[in-house]
Order: sequence, then structure tokens, then C-alpha cells
Amino acid sequence: MRRGNFKVRILIALAVVAFAFIRKCSQEEINPYTGKKQAISLSPDQEIAIGLQSAPDMARQHGGLHPNNQYQSLVDNVGNKLVNSSVAKNTPYQYDFHLLADENTINAFALPGGQIFITYALFSKLENQDQLAGVLGHEIGHVLGRHSNERITNANFWKVIAMGSSAIDMGGVAQQMGQGELLKNGRGDELESDELGVKFMINAGYNPEEMIGVMEILKAAAGPNRVPEFQSTHPDPENRIEKIREAIRKYKNAS
Ligand SMILES: [Zn+2]
Repeated sequence: MRRGNFKVRILIALAVVAFAFIRKCSQEEINPYTGKKQAISLSPDQEIAIGLQSAPDMARQHGGLHPNNQYQSLVDNVGNKLVNSSVAKNTPYQYDFHLLADENTINAFALPGGQIFITYALFSKLENQDQLAGVLGHEIGHVLGRHSNERITNANFWKVIAMGSSAIDMGGVAQQMGQGELLKNGRGDELESDELGVKFMINAGYNPEEMIGVMEILKAAAGPNRVPEFQSTHPDPENRIEKIREAIRKYKNAS
């Protein structure tokens, strides 16, 4: 191979990298509901489609939906009350709240676009509706914060760069989602969702102090040696309760 050829290849590689970064920057937009600047590549319609497509897989992995209709109605009522009395109502997202039959895994999570889940294991530990509102409000925060969109965008960075955002392999992403990959949230996402959760609780007339109760239940459930599933998808920054207290002060004074 000639030396000149090699140089040309390096130049092309550099051009591709430069193009990639320009493209990534041009993908940044301000989230209209949180005011946060983020690099995202999926439209709300695509987020909704991925969530709907991976929801059945997700449910199957947690023993399907819980058969008790009264419990499911309670989850629906609290979830819908949070949506209808907050900015979540003005988003394009379609919110569905699912109670999963799983009695062992203490967890709650959100797929992009509004599919939200809570396991019976966590549901049965909650002491009141306000705490349920805390869990669901936090998950609505992940949807509105478009946190999975950011993770999908990062995971598909080079593919997105090479083919443009519309070329994302939607089926592949939905499959990864359904298998629980791409569900892990970062610290920043957790704190943002806690804050949004507190805001939604206050908007809907729930007692935001109970968000702290939720944190205590999660901590107690972890026990000395066991790390609950919730913490693998929801890292627990040490200052989470402190930040929740700050959010309560902030939004209580505002209302
Ligand atoms: Zn979370």
C-alpha cells in the first residue's frame, strides 16, 4: 500500500469525526418541559412507538400484569391524577400505568413515551396513596425528561451519525428496551425525576413529604446485604433525600 493512500484515509477519518461532532451538537435541543439542553435523536412519536412495542416484553419478564383489578384501578387513578394536574398533560405522550404481578422484584420503571410500570413487590410495601403518587410521579419525570431518548441517542451515536436520525433501527431499540437494557438511569436523571415527581405531587394535591417515605422504604428493602433491583436501574445518590427536601421547599413556596 502506498503511503499517500494512508494519509488520505486518515484525513477522511478526521473529517468523519469532525462531522460527527457537528452533527451531535446540531441534535441538541432544549427540553420544553424541563428547560434542559439534551442530545436526542427520536421524535416523541418514535418514543411512543418504542415504548408500546417493548411494553409486552417488559410485562412478561415480571410475571405479566397483576390480576387484581382494584389495585390496577388505584394505580390508574393516581397516575392519571398526576398527569391531568401537571404539565405532563400538555405533552404528546400517552401515559399508561401498569401493575406487574412480580412479588419479588422491588422496582418501578418507565419506557419512553409514557408506558409506566410498578411491581406488586414495591406496590405492596407502600403505606398510602401519596407514596404511590411519589413513585409514579418520579417515573412520569423520566418520560417527560426524555431520559431514554438520551440513552438511545448515546448508544446509537455512530449509527445515528452515519445514517441520520430517521434511520434508527426502531425494532432493535424496542427489543433492547424490552430486555431491560437502556433502562439504567444516571444520577442526574434520578435527581431530575425526583424533583419533577415532587412538583407533580404538589400540583395534584398529594403530600410531597411522602416522597421521602418512598426513599426510606427502598432503603429498608435493600437490607444490609441485598441490593434491590430498583437500585440497579435507579442509582441512589447520597443526597437524594436532601434534594427532595429542597424541591419541596421550592415548589411549596411557588404554589
Ligand atoms: Zn428513576
